[in-house]
Amino acid sequence: MEHVYIAIGSNLGKPLKQAKNAIIALNTIPTSKVINVSSTYRTKPLGIQNQSDFLNMVILLETNLKPEILLNYIQKIEFNFGRIRKNERWGPRVLDIDIMLLGNKTINTPRLIIPHYGLKKREFMLYPLSEIAPDLVFPDGELLSKILTNTPRNDLRIWANSI
Ligand code: ATP
Ligand code: MG
Ligand code: MG
Repeated sequence: MEHVYIAIGSNLGKPLKQAKNAIIALNTIPTSKVINVSSTYRTKPLGIQNQSDFLNMVILLETNLKPEILLNYIQKIEFNFGRIRKNERWGPRVLDIDIMLLGNKTINTPRLIIPHYGLKKREFMLYPLSEIAPDLVFPDGELLSKILTNTPRNDLRIWANSI
């Protein structure tokens, strides 16, 4: 079994409802199980400003799947939630599911970069992650707690304590 930390983002429809349904959907992935969920957080959108606030949340999933197969299932879930893939990054979306970390693996293929390329710079990934994995160590040996000391929270706020 591999431990996978997943980042959820949503700013269309009812984000809290999307987040709840995302947990249910992730639990339907074969040989995989949700074992921990952070609080939900509210952040201002990256890049494009004239869109609603984002809900962000981190989920710990246990899986036996190979990384690319897990990505296939995740993309199928995004599609089922009505995500339309446009050429713009960071635009509004019903549900974004990103793999932040997968055990101690480092992956660099056209489809999959692990650890997620933005993880160490994004307060909306790092703080929810630290809530459920305060002692986490990155594959390169860096401590999450150390990165957090150099990461301002910006406007990160709690959306809801539990869902
Ligand atoms: P960002 O990646 O900056 O958070 P985004 O999540 O909006 O932006 P997407 O449109 O969801 O970007 O994904 C673009 C592509 O990123 C996907 O087609 C996928 O193959 C690739 N990708 C690379 N690494 C990962 C990862 N760790 N998790 C999810 N997708 C990834
Ligand atoms: Mg993303
Ligand atoms: Mg994504």
